[in-house]
Amino acid sequence: MNNENQTVLSGTQGKSAAPEVGTPKRTKEIIAKYGFSFKKSLGQNFLIDGNILNNIVAAAELDETKGALEIGPGIGALTQRLADAAGKVTAIEIDRRLIPILRDVFADESHVSVIHDDVLKLDLKKLFEEQFSDVSGVSVVANLPYYVTTPILMKLLEERLPLQHIVVMIQKEVAQRMAAKPGGKEYGSLSVAVQYYCVPQLVCMVPNTVFIPQPNVDSAVIKLSVREKPAVDVPDEAFFFRVVQASFAQRRKTLANNLTAFVGKDHREALNALLIGINIDPIRRGETLSLEEFAELSKALLSSGLVKV
Ligand code: SAM
Repeated sequence: MNNENQTVLSGTQGKSAAPEVGTPKRTKEIIAKYGFSFKKSLGQNFLIDGNILNNIVAAAELDETKGALEIGPGIGALTQRLADAAGKVTAIEIDRRLIPILRDVFADESHVSVIHDDVLKLDLKKLFEEQFSDVSGVSVVANLPYYVTTPILMKLLEERLPLQHIVVMIQKEVAQRMAAKPGGKEYGSLSVAVQYYCVPQLVCMVPNTVFIPQPNVDSAVIKLSVREKPAVDVPDEAFFFRVVQASFAQRRKTLANNLTAFVGKDHREALNALLIGINIDPIRRGETLSLEEFAELSKALLSSGLVKV
């Protein structure tokens, strides 16, 4: 992270005395004052509803001993609520034009830091050490840019950051896939990946009328409580995720057919025997397997030597 990119704002900590940013009137005023124009390519849809902001912040279970990492503060509607609820707030914003606005809005909040950067390029481990060394726990709280929701969440999870909760507004269908249980059409490799690291909970569905400008999709707030250790024990995590991907490769195909493409046609018989040996019927589909069954399957495939690791 470049220090030039970081704005640590000086002033006093506490309940913000500034007018509420997340209202239609104030948002329009700020946009007009700074001549700001929305960039669709950056997923800029700003929240203008106090109840939704309350729901998001309440789900994050913050207090003055805790830190909040916000990705994409925009003009600061959520940041302002986080500044009231947490002891330390760090917000990462990619759009240079928003930095002076945020600097003005949070001029009196010493516990709010704004970093101008692309979250996908940032060294988050280093950022955590620099920003959150003196808090008792950190949660990510954000209204995420929808064009990069999955890469951002997978980066947060795969880097094993010391997070308590991730409370994010995302596209409704993506939230439903993350929280889906085995057996339904929404359950897939994203559900397995998220549930491997977290316990998901849908907080609320959100209509598109609470944003300026309104997105073309419905939204939802999801809370991911990060597990202390993954949901299942696997000897080779990368291999586990390869098996999961392969099992969902073509959703209408049976597990045996999808996995034959993974192990090679010559091993079809051995694969069937392996599945039966771990009590998984080869004609089942990937979408019916629990995380425990995927773990068993990846362990059995790993020790069978049928696939090159
Ligand atoms: N938090 C604000 C709110 O709720 O009103 C704005 C949310 S808006 C949906 C998403 C924000 O993420 C925008 O401000 C956008 O510029 C920012 N953004 C987009 N891509 C980003 C990235 N890769 N890294 C950091 N911020 C990003």
